[in-house]
Amino acid sequence: MGVELFVDEGGYTTVAVATALLVSLSMVFCVASAQWTLSRSADLQEVADASSVAASNAVSSFYAMAQVADACVLSLGLTGFAVMGAGLVAAAIPGKQGMSDELLRRGSELLDARNRFACNAAKGLRDLEGMLPGIVASRSWSCSRANSSGGLAYRGVAMPYPMASQSDYSALLRGVEGADVLDAARRLQDATRESEEARRRADESCARAWKADCVDAPRCMLSRARDLAGLVGTQNPYAASPETWTFGVAIRRTRAYYAARLSRESPSSDDIVEVTNSACREAFYRYALDEANAAWYTEGPGGTVDLHVPHLARNPSEVRETWLYDEARWPCTEESGRIVLHSALSCPGATGPAAGFQSVAAIDRGEVGRCDVCAMDVSDLGAVASISTSASNGYEHYWQIVVEEAMSFKQARDELAEAESKARQVADEGKRAFERAIDRLRGSRPRVCPPGACGCVSFAYRNGGAAVPSELTKAFLGEADLGAGVAVSASALAVDEDASDGGVLAHIVDVAKRTEGLGAGSVPDGIAELWGRLIVSCGSAYGDVGDVAREYLIRLDGVSGGSVGAWLRDGVASVFGNLRLSLPDMRMRKPVLANTSEVMGMAGAGQLSQVRTLMEAISSDGSIEGVARRLGAFSIDGDARSFTIAELPIPGTHGSMPLTVDLVAAGGGL
Ligand SMILES: [Zn+2]
Repeated sequence: MGVELFVDEGGYTTVAVATALLVSLSMVFCVASAQWTLSRSADLQEVADASSVAASNAVSSFYAMAQVADACVLSLGLTGFAVMGAGLVAAAIPGKQGMSDELLRRGSELLDARNRFACNAAKGLRDLEGMLPGIVASRSWSCSRANSSGGLAYRGVAMPYPMASQSDYSALLRGVEGADVLDAARRLQDATRESEEARRRADESCARAWKADCVDAPRCMLSRARDLAGLVGTQNPYAASPETWTFGVAIRRTRAYYAARLSRESPSSDDIVEVTNSACREAFYRYALDEANAAWYTEGPGGTVDLHVPHLARNPSEVRETWLYDEARWPCTEESGRIVLHSALSCPGATGPAAGFQSVAAIDRGEVGRCDVCAMDVSDLGAVASISTSASNGYEHYWQIVVEEAMSFKQARDELAEAESKARQVADEGKRAFERAIDRLRGSRPRVCPPGACGCVSFAYRNGGAAVPSELTKAFLGEADLGAGVAVSASALAVDEDASDGGVLAHIVDVAKRTEGLGAGSVPDGIAELWGRLIVSCGSAYGDVGDVAREYLIRLDGVSGGSVGAWLRDGVASVFGNLRLSLPDMRMRKPVLANTSEVMGMAGAGQLSQVRTLMEAISSDGSIEGVARRLGAFSIDGDARSFTIAELPIPGTHGSMPLTVDLVAAGGGL
């Protein structure tokens, strides 16, 4: 047949039309068949991609768990040290020794709990890492199988690179402890007790002296000075309490009192007994004023006081110890050939010529005689004070109380200053011990590099022999099969700067709150709340663990400004502020598709041999257990649905919370 077969006079023949139609149709079906084949081949790549991403997701979940465990360890350590630090500060606060003991005990328990948890977490993470290649294989296997459809069966499996863990959890095994802090705190408690005791004695002395000076019982220096010397106003001030009173007030009052008494003193009659008494009073007032002028009271730095509150002679034997005894001020006369001492020349016994002045000591020495009329001698001088000192209506009676209390006060204040200086020294040692102890938290961070840290490489395999749908083509084409195919894919974890796993930590706190009923509270009841805030701070780029610890310390009440407690509280807070901890890296790691050779290269794996391993594994055995074994990954226990890393003790409670990973979680998570 020639061209005529296709073309006649009128145009194309029926045969030509039919042939053209045939060619066109077969082309159409060839294209359709090619598209179907190409589409299924692309599916295979997608299955490989999905399978490697599923594998990396498991690794990502492991990272998240390791970060959470790391943050838990760190938060327990920080909580323990914050509580122990509060115990150390409380050791320096008077009256808080019981609270100090409790805080130190609970802080130590928290550090012990932290050490136990860190060891368990290290073991748990190591065990989970050992399971990770198996989980990766299993996860990718399930993912590729799940993509089988339309008569096409896929098999795929992924291997993590590196295959073995390169993590280092040894830092978690190094415990932290506060034995030196405890030791310093115990010594600080002793020093604080000593200073507390000394302060109590000083305060009691001060209160008793204040009462003798300002409060009638039945009289006091103030009312005696008013009634006997007419002192008023600033010369005779009143203090409403011992806190507003000092020994200086009593000293100034006494100076004014004796000055007034001295200026007013004169005999009330010419009777020689009265003249003698008046002369003795005047001598005593001059002596007392002299002593009062020599008195002082000053407050030095560091709570020390310097004072001299002189005792006034109150009987003849005490007068003998004073200059009053030796003062040659008494007029003498010559009577019957011997020198006789008088209280005044107006004495009726003074009949002879004047013979100068002598002291009462001269009578005792036998140098001068005692007058039979005025009988002036040392006992008259001693009698002035002895009467007013022993009677509760005498000024000297109350002054003597002030003098005695001043001595006890001075001794107590000296002991107080010594105890405080010791407390300050021990507090400084305590602060440095605390600094050294908490510093170990810095070096206790794990290095996490699990299997799959570089990425996961997956292999997807499709069995050959799937028939191309032939309904449309069998009239034109022979039977055709879609050949067997393999696809390789790799994924790696990329750090997402904007996403954080810190929310997991807040979730842990929420769960703890629900199960253990954590609430806000003061020291030491606020331990649970403190931990909750610390753990969230550990997971937040903006969290400041120093601030959290400082706020906890500030809640300690009873700390007065300038005290050892205040100094130590600032010191312990600044230790937290200067800690400069590197916080756990809570940034989320998300799987992204990556270059296969780069992933293998990064892990130092020989590409060809690895690819062969995967191919052999995938084609040799129908079960994931067999595949995993061939890959060197022991498969996870078929019944295990979850794995507990460790039990997290919840500070401030007796409860704990398991940190568990769900091994069969949907969505590729662990
Ligand atoms: Zn006389």
